[in-house]
Amino acid sequence: MTVKNVSILGVTGSVGRATADLIAGAPERFRAEAVAAGSDVEALAALARRIKARFVAIADPDRYNDLKSVLSGYNCEIAAGREGVVEAGHRQADVAVAAIVGLAGLESTLAACKTGKTIALANKEALVSAGDVVRAAAEEANAQILPVDSEHSALFQAFEPERAHAVEKLTLTASGGPFWKWSKSQIAKAKLEDALKHPTWDMGSKITIDSATMMNKGLELIEAARLFPISEEHIDVLIHPQSIIHGMVSYRDGSVMAQLGSPDMKTPIAVALAWPDRMNTPVQRLDLATTGQLTFDAPDNDRFPSLDLARQTLRAGGDRPAVLNAANEVAVAAFLKQRINFPCIVETVHASLEALAELPANSLEEVIEADRRAREAALNYISGLT
Ligand code: MG
Repeated sequence: MTVKNVSILGVTGSVGRATADLIAGAPERFRAEAVAAGSDVEALAALARRIKARFVAIADPDRYNDLKSVLSGYNCEIAAGREGVVEAGHRQADVAVAAIVGLAGLESTLAACKTGKTIALANKEALVSAGDVVRAAAEEANAQILPVDSEHSALFQAFEPERAHAVEKLTLTASGGPFWKWSKSQIAKAKLEDALKHPTWDMGSKITIDSATMMNKGLELIEAARLFPISEEHIDVLIHPQSIIHGMVSYRDGSVMAQLGSPDMKTPIAVALAWPDRMNTPVQRLDLATTGQLTFDAPDNDRFPSLDLARQTLRAGGDRPAVLNAANEVAVAAFLKQRINFPCIVETVHASLEALAELPANSLEEVIEADRRAREAALNYISGLT
């Protein structure tokens, strides 16, 4: 078996740590090349040592000396700042796991795409805001993007590219988040700790809040339209609170291919790491007899308007998805700091879209400009509230 070199961009987050666990558990299959993280020097250093990474980068330039001292005695290259993280993406590796949350991960994701390898993409925001730019970079370098998002991994496994013409519909499942059973007036009073309690998935705080507003599914809808040759009106969302079926591909003969598994990110990460092979994981095996009932529901736009909002931006194209994403990042950060209430997250996104005229977003510069304008509009809206 050939050993794959793996780089992990965003190693201290939940996907990054799960990737490190898988690599540490299969030294005969994987070797760590580069690891990068935002500002958590101690966690970064511990993970780098654990998987024996050869290049270690911290995004916060002020933490360079701290990283150097924490890694003293460990033989590796050390870098810091934006350039350091981009260099981690540029390192020669067979698989680059792009797991930095938010548009902050765009540059390193692009760097990885440009070196022509397999990109295990968990950074959905990069694909939402800069879908064309990321795809063009990957195509030019002959890099392959494999989705790590569980729903898209499911679709990837069920989707037969040679029969794309026969696909009628893609279905993304959604747990519905912690508020699926809540009334609109209850949701309006939801507290931060309520929103942080996800019923089935254990994830970082940004995506957990996105799941509570269901903006996560909106971003995933856009992500699916970027990853698969299927237009928006053929991508459906289905509420499935148990998170056992992750995605389905419907063919025009009436056949539906679904992918199932325990809700554990290690499975989709393993699919991307080992692809086209399969690897062992310690994931809890699915036992449907003990799982019991699987239930399904249609989305509810009245209580969760973010999904339709995302769909509208996908239809409109241009900079709209980038504005949606950036305004959402700002609003979620404000909610996490308890500066705004829960319904205000989606209101901020809506107001930012309304406030800004539509512009194209075909180049990286245009995407970054759309992102900047949207952050400004979102902050303006939020400061106008108090
Ligand atoms: Mg997902």
